Amino acid sequence: TRSNSLQETDIAYQLHPYTNARVHEKQGPMIITKGDGCYVYDSEGKKYLEGLAGLWSVGVGFSQPRLVEAAAKQMAELPYYQNFAHKAHAPGILLSEKLVEITPEHLTKVFYTNSGSEANDTVVKFVWFMNNMLGRPEKKKFLSRNKAYHGITVASGSLTGLPGNQKGFDLPAIPVVHLTCPHYYRWAEDGETEAEFTARLLKEAEETILAEGPETIAAFIGEPVMGAGGVMTPPEGYWPGIEALCRKYDILIVSDEVINGFGRTGKPFGCERYGFKPDILVTSKQLTSSYMPLAAILMTDEVYQVIADYTEQLGTLGHGFTAGGNPVACAVALENIKIIEEQDLMGNVARLEDKFQSGLRKFSDHPMVGEVRGVGLIAGIELVADKATKKSYEPAGYIAATASKLAAEQGLIVRNIYETIGLCPPMIIDEAQIDELLEKLGAALEGLPT
Ligand code: PLP
Repeated sequence: TRSNSLQETDIAYQLHPYTNARVHEKQGPMIITKGDGCYVYDSEGKKYLEGLAGLWSVGVGFSQPRLVEAAAKQMAELPYYQNFAHKAHAPGILLSEKLVEITPEHLTKVFYTNSGSEANDTVVKFVWFMNNMLGRPEKKKFLSRNKAYHGITVASGSLTGLPGNQKGFDLPAIPVVHLTCPHYYRWAEDGETEAEFTARLLKEAEETILAEGPETIAAFIGEPVMGAGGVMTPPEGYWPGIEALCRKYDILIVSDEVINGFGRTGKPFGCERYGFKPDILVTSKQLTSSYMPLAAILMTDEVYQVIADYTEQLGTLGHGFTAGGNPVACAVALENIKIIEEQDLMGNVARLEDKFQSGLRKFSDHPMVGEVRGVGLIAGIELVADKATKKSYEPAGYIAATASKLAAEQGLIVRNIYETIGLCPPMIIDEAQIDELLEKLGAALEGLPT
């Protein structure tokens, strides 16, 4: 059949990201051929509920005709133009206005890239650029956290705090200090309360700042809810504490909302859910529901003014991407945001949060479920070999990979992240589909070898 020959062709010609190439040569790809709402279909015709919305990203679902129309219309009118050297196009202008309107009001300017990784690399360069302008070139280091995911390019991959993204690649390649992951279940000490855990992390952050020298620390970057490292929600008081420290030591705060943005946590942006005001906010993924590649960096007027002054002094901003803010991507983003607003999808997340999260928490009784965590429509289920000691199953990653395989057999796509099952369904999901997700996931967990 065509699908078999496609599988062979894939094995012959494609190197896949996040894939063991030798295993892939033997088993070949799962080929997805069609999407419909919250569902996708593989080349054998099997239907799956997409429990991860692609890669945490297809907020409006897989078959939204309005996005197709918006793309086709823009393709026909002006498929491409640049935004370099004083050039602009209407979709880029109007999207910038819209993003400034819907993000927290202190963010006032927008810069576009094609991906979250490029956006975070750009943030690193902008922060360095600013501190050079301000005559403090030694203020260059970034604070990040273990288990953070900020992308895979040279700078963003350095900010990422996952050994799997750094091993073999000579990363980190920029000055970055990774603090303890703010995940109470895994990183709290015996007997430590959540408040004590938060206080310890904040003490560690302050001691690190003082040991490194505040004059060397440029910015703190974090995902409000950590996503690709295993869906970790922060302990109570963590973000306001980090914000206070950053203000005290003149350190910029970067909220990486590539996953959190556009309602995923039940509030429009994750920084609003956790009550802090970033100087820079990065968004992508649900910005276009991933129908087109696009990321946007939002910044305060203070950040913008320093950058603008330096461009005047140097004659230009020597940074930009050929397709950054591509008009088709911007037109799709505009229509996507319109759909999110008209269908009140952010409200849908807030309304369904309790059903989704409490439904998942019922799996806490399962002998291998160590923790169920999450907010809004994003969640993680961490599997353990021993609930009392929280000891992980061996070999590493095997049990969550098995759960993911069993879920796929049930017709549910989830993501296995080390020992955790990651969930992040499209924001258009309804109550009946949440029941379906819970039922299929329950069946997969029941099938795990004990
Ligand atoms: N930042 C966060 C929080 C992400 O989750 C991701 C991707 O998952 C990125 C950055 C990198 O984005 P991209 O894969 O578009 O480069």
